[in-house]
Amino acid sequence: MKTSFYQYSLSDLKTLFEHNGLPPSGPGLLYNWHYKKRKIEPCLADLAKKSIQFVAEKFDFNLPEIDQTQDSADKTVKFLFKLQDGQKVETVLIPFNGKYTICLSSQVGCAMKCSFCHTGLQGLARNLRTDEIIGQFLQSQRWLTANRPDDDKILNIVFMGQGEPLHNFEAVKKACEIFLSQHGLSVADQKITISTAGYLPGLQRWKDEMPKVNIALSLHSPVKEKRDELIPINKRYPLEEVLKYVEAIPSGKNRFVTYEYLLIEGFNDSDEDAHLTGKLLEGKSAYISLIPFNPFPGSDYKRPQLERVQHFKTILDTYKIPTLIRATKGDEILAACGQLNSKKLT
Ligand code: SAH
Repeated sequence: MKTSFYQYSLSDLKTLFEHNGLPPSGPGLLYNWHYKKRKIEPCLADLAKKSIQFVAEKFDFNLPEIDQTQDSADKTVKFLFKLQDGQKVETVLIPFNGKYTICLSSQVGCAMKCSFCHTGLQGLARNLRTDEIIGQFLQSQRWLTANRPDDDKILNIVFMGQGEPLHNFEAVKKACEIFLSQHGLSVADQKITISTAGYLPGLQRWKDEMPKVNIALSLHSPVKEKRDELIPINKRYPLEEVLKYVEAIPSGKNRFVTYEYLLIEGFNDSDEDAHLTGKLLEGKSAYISLIPFNPFPGSDYKRPQLERVQHFKTILDTYKIPTLIRATKGDEILAACGQLNSKKLT
């Protein structure tokens, strides 16, 4: 049976070539062809005959198909991808200063069941494979080049689409290796961020196993009862434990942890909530991203007024924690944070 070429990190590919007695130049040539030159058809140039035969027998180069595309006035694009088994996932391109951030999905649905998240309602269908993660990037890049040739740069990668990336650790890790590989997609390590709801088994592996990428933690409340309601896994993986591992992750200069704080009117947006958050994160290499709740059909929570959000930020400023209010993009096409739900579209 064939396996996807896009599942192989460069070192996997080197090992495979070595085990099969093939010339060692093959993996680099293949990486260059498919990732740097962005070719879809198999590479024939320069590759030894027996390597060409091996590639033809061993690999397929299928990518997820674009099933639907929606774009909004602010240039956000949401793709619905159809996978080989018919499952669907969403990917979002978010414009920022003439470049794009790509928001990738790591699972079909999600098992975390966060009360404020549209994807959580969907339940978990299955993990994505590495090639399905890489494929979202390659296909979105191709779409941009074909449709917006003057403006087709993807600068940042965030694992903030459907799924809990650390619940699919192996595939996400390997995808990061391929993104980062200088012979592959050559994305700079400060440009990749994995966002987690605080899935402790993955956080415990991060330090030793994950390549150097940024971490974002969905905090949403420092108050146990509130976080329990918002993120049910908080009951199993308490915040103190989670923070211990999260804080040990950043390495190198200028590294910090992003704490995402979802603001819900009348639930976690009071002055007291802001002070407790400030006290929790004061003095840490922290950066806070305030996300006003994005509503979706059937949700009871409400988004606070902008003045409340700004006031919340003003309180955090007194703790000297850099805080940004995340601009909402693509909400009219349900492409904003927490609005993805590939079932509703099918
Ligand atoms: N499972 C990961 C990544 C996916 S969600 C995580 O939990 O971090 C990416 C971000 O969007 C998270 O911070 C998540 O809490 C937030 N989010 C989810 N639903 C939202 C909604 N309805 N409005 C605003 N942000 C939401």
